[in-house]
Amino acid sequence: MTDVRFLPIEKMNSAGFIELLAPYRFVGGESNKNLTAVKIHPGEEGNSSYIPPSLVKMVVDSLELSYRRTFLTDTTVLYGGRRMTAPDYVSLAWDHGFRLPDLPPFIVADGLVGADECKVTLPEQCETKVARLAAALERTDNAVMISHFKGHLLAGFGGSIKHLGMGWAAKAGKLYQHSSVMPFVNEDKCTFCKACISVCGSSAIETLENTVRINDQLCTGCGDCIQRCPVGAIRVSWNQEAHTFISRMVEYALGASMATTIPVYVNFLTNISPDCDCMKNEGPPMVKDIGVVASSDPVAIDQACLDLVTAAIPLDDNAEAGLDKFLKIRPDRDGREQLRIGEEIGLGSREYRLVKI
Ligand code: SF4
Ligand code: SF4
Repeated sequence: MTDVRFLPIEKMNSAGFIELLAPYRFVGGESNKNLTAVKIHPGEEGNSSYIPPSLVKMVVDSLELSYRRTFLTDTTVLYGGRRMTAPDYVSLAWDHGFRLPDLPPFIVADGLVGADECKVTLPEQCETKVARLAAALERTDNAVMISHFKGHLLAGFGGSIKHLGMGWAAKAGKLYQHSSVMPFVNEDKCTFCKACISVCGSSAIETLENTVRINDQLCTGCGDCIQRCPVGAIRVSWNQEAHTFISRMVEYALGASMATTIPVYVNFLTNISPDCDCMKNEGPPMVKDIGVVASSDPVAIDQACLDLVTAAIPLDDNAEAGLDKFLKIRPDRDGREQLRIGEEIGLGSREYRLVKI
């Protein structure tokens, strides 16, 4: 049974973090020369629930990571906003305080536009054959995962598993996970500039009279056209069937965990909002801040977080302690599927021992 170490909110100070993370210290290797990725989410512009630089610094410093061999990282996204290309994303991370000299540098893991990828062959128990992940992952000696545990529109809740599976995916991998839908062109917005046609390596974009159309039979879902369109006319529909999305995301999480060594997952149970850090408005917290947990098992840590949030007294008078608050607001998105599938395919175990600091 895996330990999940729990630092309650009232002990979240530097001494508490050192004690919480003591078993995982020196993940940078004996001489601290390992190239270490610290996977974070610096928050979309306008979001206020992301884990702030001061808390990321507590983790980095408690693990005694070398600032010269460590980098903060994340991948680009499929939709508009400031996280779609690397230059904009780096400047957003800078604006949110993730910058030298207080923290290691922030580097985007999947290249300028999300096309730099490595491929990981998944074991036979997975329906997905190959995971298309950020190229930086295979060049990294090890990774520390820092996740914010909160609600999520498609996955029910998001913690370590979601951060691993979606967070390490290159653009093509993200599109695959969402790909019971393909990109489509909003004809009302399209200016017929044809910029998307030249970027499509699959000749999947056809011209119509005054607009273009994506041929689903030819499209491989690489996502290149989405970031190329100057007016945001190419979109994906996020309203996707839950099981396919969640199982692909969990299989990608397994792929990411196979691509590098991940000695520790750290989940923050603060600002536990109904929506995630990708949103400009994540919504008010559902419960009071609980604390922070750490474990070597991404399934065990998410199970422990779900149990802690379920047990917490809700801030909404209409809800009850002991209820799955994420399921209550999105009955068609059962986040526990992530935990069940994760255990089934060998990502981790739902059994854990909570060790309170
Ligand atoms: S997602 Fe890729 S393959 Fe599909 S239309 Fe866009 S550029 Fe072409
Ligand atoms: S890049 Fe955008 S605006 Fe230009 S043709 Fe393609 S979809 Fe239309």
